[in-house]
Amino acid sequence: MTDLSGRVAVVTGGARGIGESYVRALHAAGARVVVADVLADEGKALAADLDGAVFTELDVTDEGAWERAIGEVLDSLGAVDVLVNNAGIANAAPIEHFTLAKWNAVIAVNLTGTFLGCRAVVPAMKAAGRGSIVNVSSVEGLRGSERLHGYTATKFAVRGLTKSLAVELGPDGIRVNSVHPGFILTDMTTRVDPERLLIPLRRPGVPADLAGTVVFLAGDDSAYLTGAEIVVDGGMTV
Ligand code: NAD
Repeated sequence: MTDLSGRVAVVTGGARGIGESYVRALHAAGARVVVADVLADEGKALAADLDGAVFTELDVTDEGAWERAIGEVLDSLGAVDVLVNNAGIANAAPIEHFTLAKWNAVIAVNLTGTFLGCRAVVPAMKAAGRGSIVNVSSVEGLRGSERLHGYTATKFAVRGLTKSLAVELGPDGIRVNSVHPGFILTDMTTRVDPERLLIPLRRPGVPADLAGTVVFLAGDDSAYLTGAEIVVDGGMTV
């Protein structure tokens, strides 16, 4: 089993949903976990439940908030070894009704938030000579889907950003990979009927189905893996 003892892992959007399962799994693997989210009550309650975990209030779209949050983590915990850029939102509409406000909102959280997170942790990771960044894309970063125009555009872009960073940061010992969840039961997917989906493993995913992959990418078992895209979808896109 992957041992993350002594490692510091920051998980954005970690207060609920799939992010919460990353937080719990990274903690179980021995990491000191930072739950970073706009949801203060849920985030604080989760961190209080896990020995050594801390909560930091972070809106991933806010450049200054990233600098403050990572500065505080470095001051209090001394390192950032792992960043999981998981915070995300989805909105859907036919293209004629896809407002600029919807478009800007999803770009800001899913894409700009991921960019700002990567940029904020790189100096400390470079100084340490190691680091693992896990960017959460989606199966919608691999294919088209009706009505999800902004979401799909951001998830393709996160996949591309992951690869350019993997190339640039490999020489510094920093690995950057993306995970691509399929249909996972969370607050984000309450409006989708799983019966409509053709999933070879014959069930929708649950947040815990992603956790092992993220722990693997966080730790040394994946030491030679960078720029990879790992699809965790029960075979839905095969
Ligand atoms: P969720 O809505 O249950 O949780 C999202 C989390 O992100 C929440 O804790 C929320 O507070 C946080 N968040 C939103 N905006 C934020 C911001 N500006 N700053 C900080 N935190 C913010 O969603 P989920 O289903 O757990 O999705 C998590 C990630 O997985 C997202 O990136 C999503 O796109 C991706 N994903 C989900 C599915 C799925 O089927 N649920 C499939 C593919 C990819």
